[in-house]
Amino acid sequence: MKLIRHGELNKEKPGIILEDTSYDVSAFGEDYNEQFFESGGLEKLKSWVAANKGVLKALPAGVRLGSPVGRPSKIVCIGLNYVDHAKETGATPPPEPVIFLKSTTALCGPNDDIMIPKGSVKTDWEVELAVVMGKRASYVDEANALDYVAGYVLHNDVSEREFQIERSGTWDKGKGCDTFAPLGPWLATPDEMGDIHHLRLWLTVNGKTMQDGTTANLIFNIPFLIAYTSQFMTLLPGDVISTGTPAGVGLGMKPNVYLKPGDVVELGIDHLGQARQNIKAYAKS
Ligand code: ZN
Repeated sequence: MKLIRHGELNKEKPGIILEDTSYDVSAFGEDYNEQFFESGGLEKLKSWVAANKGVLKALPAGVRLGSPVGRPSKIVCIGLNYVDHAKETGATPPPEPVIFLKSTTALCGPNDDIMIPKGSVKTDWEVELAVVMGKRASYVDEANALDYVAGYVLHNDVSEREFQIERSGTWDKGKGCDTFAPLGPWLATPDEMGDIHHLRLWLTVNGKTMQDGTTANLIFNIPFLIAYTSQFMTLLPGDVISTGTPAGVGLGMKPNVYLKPGDVVELGIDHLGQARQNIKAYAKS
């Protein structure tokens, strides 16, 4: 299944994509959040859709998409998880995964504007494969870690490099600004994905290819990352783990290239669709 959420920001309604057409499933009565995943919502939705297929209403073209997951308890990110990206940033590939947290208020829709934060001079992009948890996970084994996955989603781990690296402390200051986590267009369940360790992921800025990588080059693979993260915190249903970015970020360019108002970022991953974000100067909403 491919799950979407549509409508106004913070008032999104659930939807589904069937054979390239998007449908509203508000009548199903549940949003795609912790409670939904925890209570076997995916299975219930599947049966509900099968029973109601004939009466589903298609969504109008151009409807706004929100994050396909209602605000999760946390967004866990893995840093430096591709050898080529670690190299371009001047870092040594880490002996164990680097973990940081991204604030959930950074979440936005896949085609929403990215706002350059106040005082920012180094706003950068990172195309990533993100995992959405389907069950509560604590001290899980790598061998059955994939049983805990609800699905996968495209993520731009937008990053402010000065806030992240030059302003003292951990990376979190440069990762959690509003609009720094565009997620979607859809959440794909594992049966839609093919081999998750052979997915192409790419990103362009103003039509120019910046990132073009494959999840075959992940240093730490998906089951390992889930098992590893669950040693340090309990993952709740709906939580997101973003698995790192391949080479080609602005920080890795010589000279560095950063986003400015008017730029357009487009990105995609096999089976997870594409997203497009216009870059805007900070504006209080
Ligand atoms: Zn990242």
